Amino acid sequence: SGRLAGKVAIITGAASGIGKATAAEFVKNGAKVIIADLQDDLGHAVAAELGGPDMAFYARCDVTNEAQVAAAVDLAVARHGHLDVMFNNAGIIGGTYMGGPIESMDMADFDRVMAVNLRGVATGIKHAARAMVPRSQGCILCTASTAGVLGGSAPHAYSVSKTAVVGMVRSAAAELAARGVRVNAISPYGIATSMGTRAVREMLGLPLVGAGAGDEEAVRRVFEEDFNEMGGGVVLRAEDVARAAVFLASDDARYITGHNLMVDGGFSVG
Ligand code: NAD
Repeated sequence: SGRLAGKVAIITGAASGIGKATAAEFVKNGAKVIIADLQDDLGHAVAAELGGPDMAFYARCDVTNEAQVAAAVDLAVARHGHLDVMFNNAGIIGGTYMGGPIESMDMADFDRVMAVNLRGVATGIKHAARAMVPRSQGCILCTASTAGVLGGSAPHAYSVSKTAVVGMVRSAAAELAARGVRVNAISPYGIATSMGTRAVREMLGLPLVGAGAGDEEAVRRVFEEDFNEMGGGVVLRAEDVARAAVFLASDDARYITGHNLMVDGGFSVG
């Protein structure tokens, strides 16, 4: 039972953060999930935590490697007979969060960010479509960011990669609507995942690893106070993004495609 009962999902970047929270929420809602990531130890641990191979199965999948993305899709179909949801969520910020002036942009870093955040998403869409179009059904989700809409709040490569994810989603949605497959983006903001925490540590001038208790408190304050747009003590968590993903993946959203759902407490309209 559950809103995703009988559905099979692949989630990239599911060893950590938003992907991990979404895997948990998907399993809770009755889906079977392939945890696709390149952090093997964490990925195996997440799969075990979520009930083991029948519910959640870890598959190593570097989204910059097309053969590995294709293999993850084939694995889902081989294990469960079909693929219903592809969540292209893996992403990186790149070398530094405080990217520095555009004149000193590191072009190798730019290429790395694009390879994961944009090409990885495009590759996921391609192979998900291969499995979904023949059945005329399926849902593709992609993690963009408020940075992709606002532009100025993150390093250049990261921002433009996320703007491009929204473009890719719109273009794929336009093509795939008539073939039964929905494609949507989700845009989170300021969540204390490992990526988010690293960015804030850098903003605060703290060492990136080896936190003291005082550090942790300063970082927590940034997420829960400085970044917090909502009143009433509501703090944005990875689980909030996960629940938006459950909705978009469910049949309740069966007529929603080409959309970019902001999960940001109003940041992008403020
Ligand atoms: P995270 O670092 O906790 O998780 C990202 C995961 O992606 C990690 O497990 C990592 O191993 C995996 N990954 C990285 N490169 C990969 C690759 N090449 N192939 C497969 N997996 C790879 O960070 P998160 O915050 O959960 O990030 C998830 C997504 O959310 C990213 O796309 C990120 O850009 C986006 N996002 C995050 C925030 C935020 O505030 N945390 C805001 C907006 C958007």
